[in-house]
Amino acid sequence: VQRIGVLTSGGDAPGMNAALRAVVLAADHYGMEVIAFRHGYQGLLDNDHAPMRPADVMHILQYSGTVIKSARCQRFKEVEAAQEAAANLDALSIDALVVIGGDGSFRGAEHLSAHWDGQIIGVPGTIDNDLFGTDATIGYATAVHIAMDALDKIRDTADAMDRVFIVEVMGRYAGFIGLSSAMAAGAERMILPELQKEKPLTISTIVKHIERTNAIRGEGSYVMVLSEHQWPGGAVALAEQLEAEYHLPCRPCLLGHIQRGGPPSPADRILASELGVHAIELIRDGVTKVMAGMQAGTPIAVPLRDTWEKKNPLDSNLLRIQHEIFNPVKKTPRT
Ligand code: ADP
Repeated sequence: VQRIGVLTSGGDAPGMNAALRAVVLAADHYGMEVIAFRHGYQGLLDNDHAPMRPADVMHILQYSGTVIKSARCQRFKEVEAAQEAAANLDALSIDALVVIGGDGSFRGAEHLSAHWDGQIIGVPGTIDNDLFGTDATIGYATAVHIAMDALDKIRDTADAMDRVFIVEVMGRYAGFIGLSSAMAAGAERMILPELQKEKPLTISTIVKHIERTNAIRGEGSYVMVLSEHQWPGGAVALAEQLEAEYHLPCRPCLLGHIQRGGPPSPADRILASELGVHAIELIRDGVTKVMAGMQAGTPIAVPLRDTWEKKNPLDSNLLRIQHEIFNPVKKTPRT
């Protein structure tokens, strides 16, 4: 392999720059040239590219976002678009493409692979941690840290007034960010997609839980973590509905895109560096249509299709602890 292409696509994630840097440095180490496409798949279609040398990736690993830009590109889903991209890659004599992104970007990679002969390797860059086959995705640890930090701050003010707060976090349709941040910040309740699917919470169940919690430990703040898409109208609507039934102030707080910014955590920088290098090593091994992932400290290759067709479950022990131990709903009879 002489020349590889690289792009960042879909929702940006802290550590994408660190992954890009690792790809460029590892490629250079093995004597490959790197061409970066700007704005994800849009850049493949627009022929918007530039060579990337080690000097171009100096000191970018400490920044979130992505220096080669990301984008969503609806048109890439069409067959003609994939054919066009394939022709553009061939015209540049590119032998392999590294796609840094989430499940949508990997579907795009699979789509491209039906029309292009080059090797395609995915690097899991998403805060949501919703890709099968890797213990963590790049950006997840940072997002959890930011959410925990925000929850701590909310706790200070909530506690001063004995208030109920609903903090809405990201995660797409997975509860990883919600569960981990709730656990790390000691939130009293969490509303996660996986739990909602099993047994959806109602306003009256939530109010009962607030009242029981107060009865057990005394009046105090009550902080709830709400995963996005899990309540019609989100945290604002939930706060209004709760207030109407609970008759005490309930305040919403939407973290939004704050969860994607600031310095990537050490874990994300290190994971991104390992997976960026692993992607290049997989190219050297002649593999294609796989994601570079990490399982129990070992870099592995996961078939691209598995990454979105299969699901990593939420940590069942964390769920158990959060629900049964830290948030007693039933009064245990004392003997
Ligand atoms: P993420 O990678 O963060 O999950 P998206 O779901 O927005 O982000 O996907 C990023 C891009 O990947 C889309 O804008 C589109 O260009 C491409 N893509 C997503 N799904 C497909 C698909 N089924 N076929 C082809 N391209 C796709």
